[in-house]
Amino acid sequence: MMTTRLEYVWLDGYKTPNLRSKVRYTDTQIRSIDDCVSWGFDGSSTKQAEGSDSDCVLRPVRLYYNSADTVNSSSYLVLCEVDNADGTPHESNFRNKLQHTLSETEQYEMLFGLEQEYVLRNMDDSLCGWPESGLPKPQGEYYCGIGCHNTSMSQFVEEHTRAMMDAGLTVHGTNAEVMLGQWEYQLGPQYALEVADELWISRYLLYKIGERYGVYPDFHPKPMKGDWNGSGCHINFSTEKMRHEWTMPDIHKFCEEFGKYTPDLLEVYGEHNKERLTGEHETSAYGEYSYGASDRGCSVRIPYITMTSGRGYLEDRRPSSNIDPYQAISGLIDSVTVTEKDMVQVDYKV
Ligand code: ADP
Ligand code: MN
Ligand code: MN
Ligand code: MN
Repeated sequence: MMTTRLEYVWLDGYKTPNLRSKVRYTDTQIRSIDDCVSWGFDGSSTKQAEGSDSDCVLRPVRLYYNSADTVNSSSYLVLCEVDNADGTPHESNFRNKLQHTLSETEQYEMLFGLEQEYVLRNMDDSLCGWPESGLPKPQGEYYCGIGCHNTSMSQFVEEHTRAMMDAGLTVHGTNAEVMLGQWEYQLGPQYALEVADELWISRYLLYKIGERYGVYPDFHPKPMKGDWNGSGCHINFSTEKMRHEWTMPDIHKFCEEFGKYTPDLLEVYGEHNKERLTGEHETSAYGEYSYGASDRGCSVRIPYITMTSGRGYLEDRRPSSNIDPYQAISGLIDSVTVTEKDMVQVDYKV
């Protein structure tokens, strides 16, 4: 019997959660998540408990093949929710809260696509590809750029993308971003819980493969002050009606009404996001709401494909690169479904 390596992965109790993991080995055959047993950890070391009552429970919820492990041939990532010792969900367990939101909004059949931007840093915290002193040439040629004078760490990006696909994530694509050393990949379209789980696993893989290259991903929304783009995590979303029923006037009406929820959404769209949402560098100003077709300075963009066909999906450009997708997507579902519900009611009165 081959020994299998199981790396249990969970989120800690920080405001912007960090990934944590610990590893166990088993000789039992692992066919599905049901074959993974619950496990405990010391919550007092992760901002999830007091030292006097420190036991928290890791409850396995999803299993991913781990091809980033080049040492063990049978190796999996076990994504876990955190419970209290009495079996109730821990207060940091926003995955559980997202499931609750979903159970009340099933009929909207929402789909999501996430665009994760990040920059890569060396172990001394310097940005990958940047000169030791002074600045690289100004932004312009780096976005979707080709060649080692315009990009940095493209081999790492390939390796990460391959690992995401091996793990079964819904990889949509990748591109070099506007700032040197900045990259993006997209996940989806996919269901809320699935894509949120995928985002955390994809980030885990960035950190883990980065350990081999001596680099790490930085998800700060504004990694470099000045005339350099920040990092976002645009959330593309659609409801069943947006995909199959609506025409352009419905889309416009939705976008108009959706603006009401800006303060609620900014609460869950990432820490330090104010530094990024300046109204420049392809962002809308913090707290201001706007929407428009193909306009990248808007809060919400109506993509070209939605514009031309009258239906499809919308892009919320405000979420920052460091979002907790469980919290951001929960908030977005609340706002989107309330907006859509109100629209239907208005129509009936006419
Ligand atoms: P951008 O032009 O904003 O850079 P990208 O090509 O990087 O766009 O990303 C587009 C995203 O939209 C992808 O994550 C994709 O999964 C997502 N997407 C496509 N169709 C839908 C849909 N119907 N509902 C939700 N998301 C979608
Ligand atoms: Mn993109
Ligand atoms: Mn981008
Ligand atoms: Mn985008």
